[in-house]
Amino acid sequence: MPIFANPGTDGAVMNFEQRYDNWIGGQWTPPVKGQYFENPSPITGKTFCEVARSTAEDIDLALDAAHKAAPAWGKTAAAERSLVLLKIADRIEENLTQIAVAESWDNGKAVRECLAADIPLAVDHFRYFAGALRAQEGSLSQVDEDTVAYHFHEPLGVVGQIIPWNFPILMAVWKLAPALAAGNAVVLKPAEQTPASILYLISLIGDLLPDGVLNIVNGFGVEAGKPLASSNRIRKIAFTGETTTGRLIMQYASENIIPVTLELGGKSPNIFFADVMASDDGFRDRALEGFTMFALNQGEVCTCPSRALIQESIYDEFIDLAVKRTEAIKQGNPLDTDTMMGAQASNDQFEKIASYLSIGQEEGAKVLTGGEPLKLDGELAGGYYIKPTIFAGNNKMRIFQEEIFGPVLSVATFSDYADAMSIANDTLYGLGAGVWSRDGATAYRAGREIQAGRVWTNTYHDYPAHAAFGGYKASGIGRENHLMMLEHYQQTKNLLVGYAQNAK
Ligand code: NAD
Repeated sequence: MPIFANPGTDGAVMNFEQRYDNWIGGQWTPPVKGQYFENPSPITGKTFCEVARSTAEDIDLALDAAHKAAPAWGKTAAAERSLVLLKIADRIEENLTQIAVAESWDNGKAVRECLAADIPLAVDHFRYFAGALRAQEGSLSQVDEDTVAYHFHEPLGVVGQIIPWNFPILMAVWKLAPALAAGNAVVLKPAEQTPASILYLISLIGDLLPDGVLNIVNGFGVEAGKPLASSNRIRKIAFTGETTTGRLIMQYASENIIPVTLELGGKSPNIFFADVMASDDGFRDRALEGFTMFALNQGEVCTCPSRALIQESIYDEFIDLAVKRTEAIKQGNPLDTDTMMGAQASNDQFEKIASYLSIGQEEGAKVLTGGEPLKLDGELAGGYYIKPTIFAGNNKMRIFQEEIFGPVLSVATFSDYADAMSIANDTLYGLGAGVWSRDGATAYRAGREIQAGRVWTNTYHDYPAHAAFGGYKASGIGRENHLMMLEHYQQTKNLLVGYAQNAK
């Protein structure tokens, strides 16, 4: 298996530009105030490019371009829009390795994940919505013999989108594919921690869309995100990020009475009933694999199964195997395809996770493995690496209640089904959950009783385009994925027509 050369060095499969402007109206456009910010790779901690530090003026330029493009794009035939999305998917697939390396370098995640999951899922997302948009139909109701109610889907027009740094390309595509499919023009702001891989992607696919249909404006939250979300020139704002930021986004949107989709934080329970240990067959192994999913993407996943609840009667045996399995996770250079866990996405995130490693110990949780940063040598010494960590404690502790967004798992036991449900639902959040049991009735009942938008049963961390995804409680409003997303990016026009010829 290869180790990819660092971008910008001999033998690299891709290179970044040294400086990235905004992508507005189909052109690279310098920021109006001429300012740029430095973008380091979490793999080494060293800056590799600088990126436009945008302000309200840049958002206005992007909105001008989007408004110019939106009417024509919204009127294109469904088959034509679908074909554009299919071409984007093909272009991404043709450049899959390069994009995967770009994503790994910008975000720090293991390139094997980008090659196997992030980028193929992005390709599939465009293909799914290319098909979904052609299958979408309006409706007609016969009000009475002479009167018909038609329902048409119309694009909203220009929409704003703001995304986080944990899956830079996939989060962008989750938002872009349905919005473009529904016939909208978009202004998207990536996270300031990971702007470069999306800009690299745009350099590959930018020519496939009419100018102004897709605009990317970079910068910080308050400087660039706020003017976008609070603009009265957008018809919807779609946001993924922290719950605290989500509250602000709702406030901005309320000024303009526009719809908001919020995909926010989580503290997902992963519940292991005693029967998973019934024999050391494949199912037990599958459950153990499901347990280690807390470390996937360095734990920087909104649905990270960060609370494992294990039935008391199997705890000792199960946790022993689970710790061993966690310790077998291979960490190291993210560009090595054998590496399973890479670097945290930023120094701030590294420090936040490190602070929770101390908090957990201070509040009396027991460290079963990890509990500290990982020191690597050479050029990786400046990167942001943390060992996968398992704490044993109880659900009242901060490490069970607060989103850490790192490879930190908090484990507790439960006595019976009712106890498991009560602990699982004792959280502010309701994004994801996992239930592991050989008993179909238990798994089904638990799946229905847990207050979360996505409950995985005997599996975890699958994200097919055709399954609705989103949060209960403080984890958000609305859904992503699934063909229902088309309607989230559309208006419903009702035409009520009377065909009677004569006076009543
Ligand atoms: P964040 O809220 O700090 O930032 C997200 C985005 O919002 C960034 O682009 C940022 O620049 C922008 N932003 C920040 N302040 C803003 C403001 N006042 N106005 C407008 N925009 C603003 O979140 P983050 O730290 O980048 O991401 C991690 C969070 O995202 C975690 O809580 C995680 O659970 C969540 N997340 C949720 C999902 C989901 O689907 N539910 C998916 C991925 C991540």
